[in-house]
Amino acid sequence: MSRHATVREARPLRPAAGSSALRIDPSLCDGVGICAHLAPDLVSVDSWGYPILRAGVLGSASERRQADAAVAACPRRALRVSS
Ligand code: SF4
Repeated sequence: MSRHATVREARPLRPAAGSSALRIDPSLCDGVGICAHLAPDLVSVDSWGYPILRAGVLGSASERRQADAAVAACPRRALRVSS
């Protein structure tokens, strides 16, 4: 199993119409988990430091701010907010 196979999404992340979602490209992620520190309501990390999206759909202004901060800080540009 490759290292990137450990990055996973905890639940389906297809947003409802009109909503946004935090998404990750596992092929770009390098672990460490800066995103989990900046978006604790949305991301946790596994035992290797790879992110697990636990709340992809952004349901509040706070979640949107966390997602935007994580996207901006990701050194690998592995995160994005999509609608
Ligand atoms: S900040 Fe980016 S590279 Fe780092 S763990 Fe999160 S998604 Fe991966």
